Amino acid sequence: MEFDFIVVGAGSAGCPLANRLSENGRYKVALIEAGGKDSNPWIHVPVGYFKTMGNPKTDWCYKTEPDAGLNGRSIPWPRGKVLGGSSSINGLLYVRGQAEDFEGWRQMGNTGWGWDDVLPYFKKAENWEEGEGNDRGIGGPLNVSPTRLKRDIVDAWIKSAVDAGYKENKDYNNGDQEGVGYFQLTSKNGQRCSSAVAYLKPIRSRSNLKIFTNSQAEKLIVDGKRVDGVTIRQGGPNGKLLNLKASKEVVLSSGAIGSPQLLMVSGIGPKDQLKDNGIDVIKELKGVGQNLQDHLQARPVYKVNVSTINIEIGNFIKQGMIGLQYILARTGPMTMAASLGTGFLKTREDLATPDIQFHIQPWSADSPAEGPHKFSAFTSSVLQMRPESAGHLELISSDMREYPKIHPNYLATKLDCDTMVEGLRISHRITQHGPLKDIITGQHNPNEDLNFDDYDAVLDWARSNSTTIYHPTGTCKMGNDPMAVVDERLKVRGVEGIRIADCSIMPIITSGNTNAPAIMIGEKCAAMMLEDAA
Ligand SMILES: Cc1cc2nc3c(=O)[nH]c(=O)nc-3n(C[C@H](O)[C@H](O)[C@H](O)COP(=O)(O)OP(=O)(O)OC[C@H]3O[C@@H](n4cnc5c(N)ncnc54)[C@H](O)[C@@H]3O)c2cc1C
Repeated sequence: MEFDFIVVGAGSAGCPLANRLSENGRYKVALIEAGGKDSNPWIHVPVGYFKTMGNPKTDWCYKTEPDAGLNGRSIPWPRGKVLGGSSSINGLLYVRGQAEDFEGWRQMGNTGWGWDDVLPYFKKAENWEEGEGNDRGIGGPLNVSPTRLKRDIVDAWIKSAVDAGYKENKDYNNGDQEGVGYFQLTSKNGQRCSSAVAYLKPIRSRSNLKIFTNSQAEKLIVDGKRVDGVTIRQGGPNGKLLNLKASKEVVLSSGAIGSPQLLMVSGIGPKDQLKDNGIDVIKELKGVGQNLQDHLQARPVYKVNVSTINIEIGNFIKQGMIGLQYILARTGPMTMAASLGTGFLKTREDLATPDIQFHIQPWSADSPAEGPHKFSAFTSSVLQMRPESAGHLELISSDMREYPKIHPNYLATKLDCDTMVEGLRISHRITQHGPLKDIITGQHNPNEDLNFDDYDAVLDWARSNSTTIYHPTGTCKMGNDPMAVVDERLKVRGVEGIRIADCSIMPIITSGNTNAPAIMIGEKCAAMMLEDAA
């Protein structure tokens, strides 16, 4: 089977790539996806993430190694394993990050990645329902909408934050991120707009695009120092192997775990790790699987004297009515993204831009799997947007079916600890202002025993309770230092015929949720590949 381009991974970045590379009809394109079709109906219902996360049919269900930064805990790391990848199981929150993030990438020597360079691709991708703006696009495949669901408790949080001295911001994606407000969503008519829905669904009949589902890339086919194809395993862990050839290029869009793992099992990565696993070294690249960055989220829960989603969905009759409301009008709690309210704030006045982000949820749970609490409460989550701490992946086998070990290395620097503690103090301070001070009846976790002035106690609570907000990045970083894996055209250093386009190429994690930047990376990579192929 021979193609011009092979894209490995049909996730946030892979779907735009497959669409754009096959758009002019000149090239034969293969899109390889380890997961299945996105036919599970819960994928398309916004709150369906409760059903798709932790489900091995849609989630790789990774787990980290015990982490010292989390007081020795090991935590689940869901990643989408289905058409659309993580954009099919994510929380739908649409956040581009700050212009300064991309200026920082550019400043590191990555020509073509400054804000003015990437903005056209954010705009090309989107259809913002509120209309075109300086920074906002219309007519693109990815529908972005304001939230359909509003709740009093979230309004109260926004008012309390304003009362505490923070400004309101109605569009954090329009140049200035700072402030508090409601999230924007990758959704259309109350349904999820994954990258598969946006970029694959409309072009299903394109004859020059072949989509292989339930097909895991096992190894790159390398001739000397040139990648000229991919071996895939079709139909599950014991399925048959098939070689696909690429006359022009292979591009890895398998995500921040899948892409570095495939490189390493194919002989491209840190020499010692490859040798330890009996893999012949084709090209030593020390940075593969390193520079693993994520957003760690602390999630304080406050009990309140008004009704939150916990109570709204409290029995089967109420749930039935909510289901009916969704079926008939595509409104109500089933349209709820993972969070409703957000805030991008500074922990220190001397910062140029916000360094923490809030996720305000009109519900609360000890874990998504256990379901919401039986009492009325909301969650005021906070995270540091640009952590210094970085972890790594450890290859334990030459077989792609064996997951690498994940060492996240959270809260490993003083700045990260300080920011987490100050973020939690700000979260708590907001609850003592405006309407919240009369609405909150008590603390669930942390409980009232935690003294927010006690740095060590707050940090220890964060280490024992925080969890990922699912943004692993940086494991095949772009740049020109010895740890860089791809150059600014996303070509793997020292190997021909292969690029990487997904969250793994981020040299520094973006300030916010990572789906929109991943889609932008896919769009931009496709444009560069078409330019080079012309
Ligand atoms: C539960 C959850 C909630 C999240 N919530 C949000 C949110 O609300 N907003 C937001 O902006 N971001 C969110 N994120 C993060 C965001 O969705 C991801 O950062 C983004 O989707 C990553 O895009 P990607 O292209 O790098 O990888 P992915 O979208 O993960 O795509 C990788 C694809 O490659 C496939 N693959 C991997 N290995 C192989 C292989 N060997 N062969 C073939 N296929 C392979 C995978 O199955 C997958 O389909 C969330 C993520 C998760 C998991």
